[in-house]
Amino acid sequence: MNLAEFIIHIESFNANVNVPLIRQAYEFSDKAHAGQKRQSGEPYVEHCLEVASILAEQHMDSTTISAGILHDVVEDTAVSVEDLRREFGDEVAELVDGVTKIGRVHYSSREEQQVDYFRKMLLSMAKDIRVIIIKLADRLHNMRTLEHLPIEKRKLIAQETRDVYCPLAHRFGINKVKVELEDLSLKFLEPEVYFDLVRRVKERREEREKYIKEVTDPIQKALAEDGIRASIYGRAKHLDSIYRKIQIRKVPFEKIFDLLAIRVIVNSERECYHALGTIHTMWKPVSGRFHDYIANPKPNGYRSLHTTVFGPNNRMVEIQIRTHQMHYVAENGIAAHWLYKEGRQQMSRSDRQMAWLRDVLEWQKDMTNPSEFLEYLKIDLYSEDIFVLTPNGRLVHLPKGSTPLDFAFQIHTEVGTHCAGAKINNRLMPLSTELQSGDTVEIITNPNRSPSHDWLKLVKTSSARSKIRRWLKQAGFDQAVALGKEIIERRLRERHHSMPQEEQLQEAAEKLNRKSVEDLFAGVGNGSLSAQAVINLVIPEDTQEQKDTTGLVSRVIEKIRGSKGVKIHGMDNMMFRFAGCCQPVPGEDVVGFITRGRGVTVHRTDCPTAIRLQEQFPEREIEVSWDTGRDQSFVVQLELTVEDRKNMLRDITQAISDADTNLRAAEVHTRRDSTAMGKFLVEVTSISHLNRIIQKVRRVPGVLQVIRSTGVDAIDQS
Ligand code: MN
Repeated sequence: MNLAEFIIHIESFNANVNVPLIRQAYEFSDKAHAGQKRQSGEPYVEHCLEVASILAEQHMDSTTISAGILHDVVEDTAVSVEDLRREFGDEVAELVDGVTKIGRVHYSSREEQQVDYFRKMLLSMAKDIRVIIIKLADRLHNMRTLEHLPIEKRKLIAQETRDVYCPLAHRFGINKVKVELEDLSLKFLEPEVYFDLVRRVKERREEREKYIKEVTDPIQKALAEDGIRASIYGRAKHLDSIYRKIQIRKVPFEKIFDLLAIRVIVNSERECYHALGTIHTMWKPVSGRFHDYIANPKPNGYRSLHTTVFGPNNRMVEIQIRTHQMHYVAENGIAAHWLYKEGRQQMSRSDRQMAWLRDVLEWQKDMTNPSEFLEYLKIDLYSEDIFVLTPNGRLVHLPKGSTPLDFAFQIHTEVGTHCAGAKINNRLMPLSTELQSGDTVEIITNPNRSPSHDWLKLVKTSSARSKIRRWLKQAGFDQAVALGKEIIERRLRERHHSMPQEEQLQEAAEKLNRKSVEDLFAGVGNGSLSAQAVINLVIPEDTQEQKDTTGLVSRVIEKIRGSKGVKIHGMDNMMFRFAGCCQPVPGEDVVGFITRGRGVTVHRTDCPTAIRLQEQFPEREIEVSWDTGRDQSFVVQLELTVEDRKNMLRDITQAISDADTNLRAAEVHTRRDSTAMGKFLVEVTSISHLNRIIQKVRRVPGVLQVIRSTGVDAIDQS
């Protein structure tokens, strides 16, 4: 087929086709595929024109036909989607992009649910239903030319066609394509059966045609007498449906009588019922074989009257009665609704999709099971679902918006719990990435990784969320137990006592209304129970001698800060203190460590002590986050190097108070080289507040350096 023939062909289906656009698409595709050949030896562009012809025969619009001509350029040539966008605009580019994307996912399992997922995945990937229509046309031409491929490949493709594409064509009511795909699948999957049927149907051809005339002529005549003009024709049913009848009924070919289908096509719905009545008076209907699909259309929008009668010679004949419009829709399904009025007011893509839906809904108004139909609409066209693949091709069903973490928990709770990273389509991606239908997802696990509170923000599915919550709750309890035990042990040690016997602890637990010793420790760990209350029960009061070994600076800092400011794993009232070495303030990244005897110490994550602890005692690490009230302040020590001049201390003090800051302590020591070292303990509310103070102090004349103290050499020890 050359371009001129092609244009004549498509104009026969749509006289208003946009010829310049088609020509441009052809020239672009021809150039891109130059030198490429099909397995059959034909130039590649032939395939593109054939696919476009199939689309034109379904009366698709010029945009879809152009996308059909270009459907393989992104996959098989150097052309990019962006190139197409520049040349042909967004619509064509997106259609080709959609066809390319669904062409890249591979069908790998024949298990029923997996096949169903695969079909749904294709639908959810194809944001525009025309992508599926183009893909079906592509598959149809590939099936027509399948004999050029090696035999094993033929079987694979034919199986995929039967399992995936025939049901899709059926779902959208595209009967013409469905029937041909079914017969071609049979041809390549069961060639002996197929060619045997072809031979038998052919043998009976003369007899069949004679019989068809015996049925159609009287109908034609009777209807004409009533003033109804009908087109009536008959033919053998398609081979795949004959084959299925033989299999289901387990009878030989010769015994199947209703191989014929007669179609009566009239001008109105009223004439359909009139024709039905006429036919039923001519021949006796077979009971139970009448279906009114006009009043009750099939879910894919198919409408017709079906009846089977005992025709001439008492042979059973199936008759379908419909209007021209119904016939057109029966053959082309959803594609019929793209019937394009070029040059007229353009309908948007979603309007056209909606037109089909509205019609189908209209036809479905008497449907017995509306929820089933709503389900059908939801899944297929307003997909809230995505389907992603494991590295070995298994499909996993998730709600839209899901992340690799949802995927990991869906695979297995253990995979989720130890999820350390994810590769999407072979690239390492953040765990927060939103998955798209068709993505291949690989989870990297690490036995040392475990869920954190942040994960709750990353997941979409409630099942993953509840698994993370359950884990965190257990882990939080375990940590509270460990912490509570440490606190009690420390208090006892300070008083030169060791941990009492289990029975004694159990007794204390009961007195304090705790179910077990574990609960007792957890209570102390999470702060709901005072350690002193436990101590009072387990050792006599007179031997309780307070002996505090806490460093002075820590005591000062602790006293000023109180015991609020951070949250540990979502638990309230956990005991903690802020490390004197790095003096974290709100806004900085922090990490907690369970320390022997003193609860949890909070460090900045970049603090050298924290880094050392992380290496030495990874099991003591605990997730913390800031939880500060409005009026809460934090103490930070600043170390200044300044010129030794008059009023220096006064100027610095002034600068600090100008930044709305309380100065807790200050001292300046003169050094031999005519500079001075100052230490200032300031109260701040956040990291930005601190930065503001440092800026102000730096502007004081004679201030040479301002650094935040990181040492333990704190002011009230010097
Ligand atoms: Mn193709």
